[in-house]
Amino acid sequence: MALTIEARDRATKARAGSLRTAHGDVRTPAFVPLATKATVRGLLPAEVKALGYDMVLGNTFHLMLNPGADLIERLGGLHGFMGWDGPIVTDSGGFQVFSMGHGTVADEIKSRPSRVRNGESVAPEGAILSIEEQGVCFRSYVDGSERLLAPEDSMAAQASLHSDIALVFDECTPFHVDRAYTERSTERTHRWLTRCLDWHAEHGPAGQLVYGIVQGGVYRDMRRASARVVAASGCDGIAIGGSLGAEKAQMYEVVGYTVAELCGEHERLPRHLLGIGDVDDLIRGVELGIDTFDCAMPTRLGRHGTALVDDPKNRWRVDLTKSVWRDSEQPLMEGCACQACATGLSRAYLSYLMRSSELTGMRLLTEHNLAFLARLMADLRGAILDGQFSEMAATLRGE
Ligand SMILES: [Zn+2]
Repeated sequence: MALTIEARDRATKARAGSLRTAHGDVRTPAFVPLATKATVRGLLPAEVKALGYDMVLGNTFHLMLNPGADLIERLGGLHGFMGWDGPIVTDSGGFQVFSMGHGTVADEIKSRPSRVRNGESVAPEGAILSIEEQGVCFRSYVDGSERLLAPEDSMAAQASLHSDIALVFDECTPFHVDRAYTERSTERTHRWLTRCLDWHAEHGPAGQLVYGIVQGGVYRDMRRASARVVAASGCDGIAIGGSLGAEKAQMYEVVGYTVAELCGEHERLPRHLLGIGDVDDLIRGVELGIDTFDCAMPTRLGRHGTALVDDPKNRWRVDLTKSVWRDSEQPLMEGCACQACATGLSRAYLSYLMRSSELTGMRLLTEHNLAFLARLMADLRGAILDGQFSEMAATLRGE
């Protein structure tokens, strides 16, 4: 088993542990910053590590299109290519490819060049062409070519990337599809799970862990059945994906009854919650028994001028691009060790940098937001180990 559980909270399902990978241990519960395109945008690997992060997440879909998984393999795998020697988890590409078809375009894809610039056609739009049992046919947003992404292709790409944790290829069902669609899709995702695990058993790199993905939308019976299928599949860990509902209360309910299926004999399988990273969701997720989380939110917010601060009433956020900060001498936050806070830079200066689209501002706020979440998760972990989890959760929520 990859996960060693070191302590459990008495009142909730929260647990603290250590996840062993081929490139070192991940202290859990943990937030995993996105290194979508082989970089935590704006930061160096050493800076990410210094913030206290053990693991980052690379994006198979983007990396297989550009620069290509084969090239990355020749240049030392993702670790050697990007100069990060710690654990790396890669997603399967399913989320990105299905986002193109389901209309909920992933924020990463928004960064593709627009079709027409200065009257000239630039790169073609990515588009999903068909979803078949074999896999998904799509048009590459990089060069317009038609590509097939089958479960085996995703696993092969993740093998070439040499990630420590690979995620199986699944269909990420959006919120607006009906029960019948979700049912057909979830069953196909289970068949793809078997194909991914079969491919990995034969060709996967030694030491690479494989996480199965629980789907089933917001339907309790389907989620529970999916959790049982994935847990019994022989995978090394469980990721919870797809639509978790329209609002937070529903998301917590879905995660709660999904995790309930993963207790008992499967309790030592590590649990990852895909794409969730709001501060209140991280606290609640830990309470519900989640070990790791990933999300574009903290780094994306930082690049757009919003900083995470100790302000639960305002969703722990302050928008520094607002004119109210134009002449504020107030530092960003007390008790933060990031470079912006440690040097006491004023909100006025940070606001000016962001309104001027200065790279330094994006870098400073990205670092600050990741410092904030690293501290949050370390506080939660420490509290579980010390038997003070409920008190810590209440403090962090400002109760
Ligand atoms: Zn800071």
